[in-house]
Amino acid sequence: METPTSFRGQRIVGGNVALDLLNTQNGAAGAEPEDDVLTDYRDVLAWASHVGVITAAEERRLRRRAREEPANADAAFQRARETRAYLYDIFDAVAQGKAPARAELQRLQRDEAEALTHGRLVADDGQYRWSWADDRDLGRPLWSIIHAALTLVTDGPIDRVKGCASCRFMFVDESKNRSRRWCSMDDCGTEDKMHKYVARRSAARASRVARSG
Ligand SMILES: [Zn+2]
Repeated sequence: METPTSFRGQRIVGGNVALDLLNTQNGAAGAEPEDDVLTDYRDVLAWASHVGVITAAEERRLRRRAREEPANADAAFQRARETRAYLYDIFDAVAQGKAPARAELQRLQRDEAEALTHGRLVADDGQYRWSWADDRDLGRPLWSIIHAALTLVTDGPIDRVKGCASCRFMFVDESKNRSRRWCSMDDCGTEDKMHKYVARRSAARASRVARSG
């Protein structure tokens, strides 16, 4: 379900951190992004910490390392943006009921293979899961995102990935009857209802004018 938390005004509504990463750019549905919440590597760390991909201690550690290695930090930032772009293409296709491009799935496959070399299996409540808590690499936030994206593709619920009817945000529709249309009822949902109301009123006025004329 939706959480009320937001990062620098961006609502966190994806229901999956991979989709939350896509939602760091605003704009209308089907249009090019209008802005970007992530402007440098420090933003990536702040965002990743906010959505729970890394801990506050990891954020501090990675910030220190980024200060020491600015060129590497910039490369990690560029990679985060490129990853966001191809993941957007994959999930945008999925949300439209289309097959993602083969090359982009292969890229995800390669990235996952790299991510797993940085992670390790840890015991978790009788099972095991991947953890990157020990990884010192500047790509650390990205490994978790890539793994979340790959798991969404392989384990689902990929059939519940949707794009907002109004903006370019994507989310996992967890509603019982799969009826969620908007990223957020408070933003796009209200806006959409307002547009329909205005359209209905002007249509009604037009038909009154037509009748009286
Ligand atoms: Zn929206």
